[in-house]
Amino acid sequence: MQISCDCGSFTADLRTFPKNTPGRLACYCNDCQTYLNKIDRADVLDEYGGTEIIPVYPSELKILQGRESLKCYRLTEKGLYRWVAACCNTPIANTKPGFPWLGIFHTVYKNSDPLSLDSLGEIKSRIFGKYATGQPPFKIADKMDLKALLTVMPFIVKGKLLKKSEGSEFFESDGRTPIVIPEILNS
Ligand SMILES: [Zn+2]
Ligand SMILES: [Zn+2]
Repeated sequence: MQISCDCGSFTADLRTFPKNTPGRLACYCNDCQTYLNKIDRADVLDEYGGTEIIPVYPSELKILQGRESLKCYRLTEKGLYRWVAACCNTPIANTKPGFPWLGIFHTVYKNSDPLSLDSLGEIKSRIFGKYATGQPPFKIADKMDLKALLTVMPFIVKGKLLKKSEGSEFFESDGRTPIVIPEILNS
């Protein structure tokens, strides 16, 4: 499975996809919406302000080309590390050091084998509905709910046990220093 930015200069391989993923998830939180608005990519949001991601383990993404075009944004000094391919301003993934979670935007699954995306089925959980806009026709947890936790916990526990946060392409070998200096957006 390969992912790519809008212009195709940045590509990466997801080595075990779709084996290790909790599936399709959608986050309607304020931060995700603020971020996409600030980088002028609100078009990636669904019509109710949701960001759809399909997470994988950090250790399972291998950059094939375009590493030099990566930019890193954070909303605050403590925020997630949000990665963009600057060649065409495509949001790629959100992550944080030491956590076995790379939330890849569904929009970069372009070159993908449609069968393996289909195998994921519908969006499994939607969270932070308190920030959703309009009148969504589907159920969104107000913040987090049991269903969302049950969807992601096995993935996170397995990732912790198997140290799947290690070897991330987005951090130096210490696992904590981002490969480019993040720009803080809310300053
Ligand atoms: Zn690009
Ligand atoms: Zn969010």
